[in-house]
Amino acid sequence: MKWLKRLFRSKKTAKPEKKMAMTSDQAEKMLRMIEHTQAEELSCDEVFDLLDVYAEMAARGEDVGELYPLVEHHLEMCPDCREEYEAVMRILEQRTE
Ligand SMILES: [Zn+2]
Repeated sequence: MKWLKRLFRSKKTAKPEKKMAMTSDQAEKMLRMIEHTQAEELSCDEVFDLLDVYAEMAARGEDVGELYPLVEHHLEMCPDCREEYEAVMRILEQRTE
């Protein structure tokens, strides 16, 4: 968590008049930021739930990367889900042919 320490330090130097390491307001902001970061990561279960919709939209040629950036991101990172996605896509392609 080096970035976190750096963040504390930069906040202190940005506001030298404040002797306290961190005000409750700053702490709250940081907590919210960390929560937000975690919220950006989808679990495999969540991706699996969205996979049907996602694949169908992709098969229709819609910009799924724009609509579901988190799913796209997860598929790039997770071989298991990507395999599942490719399997769904194959089924969809067979259906339209
Ligand atoms: Zn996954």
